Amino acid sequence: MLLIIVWLEAAALWQGRVQAFTNAQRTSESVLNSLGAAIERNLLVLDASLMGIQKAMSLPEIDTMPASVRQLLLFNSAETAEFVGSILVLNADGTVRFDSRAIEPRYFNASDRSYFNVQRVGDAGLFISQPMKSRLQSKDGIIVLSRRISDVDGNFEGVAAATLRLAFFRTLFAGINLGERGIIAILSSDGVIITRSPATDRDGNAGMDLSRSSTFRRIQQGDGSFTGVAAVDGVERHYLSRQIGSYPLFLSVAFAPEDVLAPWRFRAVLTGVVVLGMCLAILVLFIKFQALLRRSFELQDMLAAAAATDTLTGLFNRREFDRRFDLEWRRCARNGSPISLLLVDGDRFKSVNDTHGHKVGDQVLQMIAQKIERVVRRPADVSARYGGEEFAIILPDTRIEGATAIAESIREKVSRSEVVLDHGVPVRTTVSIGVACVVPTGRMEKDDLFVLADAALYKAKSSGRNRVEAVPALEARGPVDTFTRTMSQPRA
Ligand code: GH3
Ligand code: MG
Ligand code: MG
Repeated sequence: MLLIIVWLEAAALWQGRVQAFTNAQRTSESVLNSLGAAIERNLLVLDASLMGIQKAMSLPEIDTMPASVRQLLLFNSAETAEFVGSILVLNADGTVRFDSRAIEPRYFNASDRSYFNVQRVGDAGLFISQPMKSRLQSKDGIIVLSRRISDVDGNFEGVAAATLRLAFFRTLFAGINLGERGIIAILSSDGVIITRSPATDRDGNAGMDLSRSSTFRRIQQGDGSFTGVAAVDGVERHYLSRQIGSYPLFLSVAFAPEDVLAPWRFRAVLTGVVVLGMCLAILVLFIKFQALLRRSFELQDMLAAAAATDTLTGLFNRREFDRRFDLEWRRCARNGSPISLLLVDGDRFKSVNDTHGHKVGDQVLQMIAQKIERVVRRPADVSARYGGEEFAIILPDTRIEGATAIAESIREKVSRSEVVLDHGVPVRTTVSIGVACVVPTGRMEKDDLFVLADAALYKAKSSGRNRVEAVPALEARGPVDTFTRTMSQPRA
């Protein structure tokens, strides 16, 4: 039972552990999905505006139209996107041609920037740069999205570029709680951190190269869910990651199993201590109770033995004799086997008492009991002190011949023994024994056997004592009643 209790408790705890982990994983998953959707939406808006610029730039009147109309045409839709720095149209030499922030474009040359050079070499579609410091807006951290502007023949005419401030990601990630050591990071497809929250430096870890870390490699391979050690701080975390739309960006959300399991561990230790303590207490109580029970059984056995024993001789007493006689009688009746009864009576015992006193009489009775015990040895045999100086012996499965032989052996042993008194005088005594044997039938009572043995005993007494008399088997089936009544009456 204790093992079952411990097992059930352990199973419940284990389930709690799995549940805690699963819950954390679900939370991270929904964070990943909603953040991913928000970022994708903003990138879509920015890209749409870049494509709008591409189209507008193919209009021949773009340079001749009023500047205010041109501003509206080129940059209007981009204003809706959050955290947009500037949107620029760059000439083929990298200088600014149109500027979303000023009708008179600010001076700036992008000819050394990757987002410009990539498009100059050939149409790269939508290009997303690595994080960098803005040259126009007070060194804000930014990424730049660019698309190539070509003439009708496909010749390079310049670049449309939009800057997205990294504050966008920082703000987006700020309110999300993934536990003490949880992190959210957005990475470029070549393994450079764009923003990580929380960050280990002031710039949100922008620009840190993770391309060689094993965690990034797994993210890159599209491993959506895995446990690994972070390259940035060496903490083991469970990662969930996805690509943002079809953009070359990965979003990764991770929690530390340690954080998630800490409350569970506290509960597990508490429950474990309580349950084990209780089990120990139950075990101790059980062992004590078992000892108590054993002692009580021993006492019960001793009492039962005492209740069945004659204190003077150590043989069974009359009550136990009656009980066992009944059992053996019925057993022999079932089996159709013979059962013999010996009644042993001390000869002229009154005179032993009168001459030497009761104490000596008792010693003589003990001697007789010893002789009986020495002769009657089979486990099923029953020797008892039936009362006073009378003993009764049942010999199941024993015929009259065997029973008579045993009776003779008892008589002979008693007659040859003597009890030596304190002053050296030996006391001798003899016994008379009546033997009867029957095979119990349905009509017979066990008292019938008793009456027969009693009659045989009477016969032994009346024919001189120190004798064994047996009721022959044939006689036993005769007129029991008349035989016993006439024979036993004088004794009464
Ligand atoms: P018999 O049987 O040979 O005819 O003579 P008896 O003297 O044995 O006859 P009776 O049955 O009349 O007397 C039985 C005597 O046994 C009576 C008593 O003095 C003695 N006796 C009975 N029980 C005890 C006992 O527990 N201790 C002692 N010391 N004597 C007992
Ligand atoms: Mg007697
Ligand atoms: Mg007697």
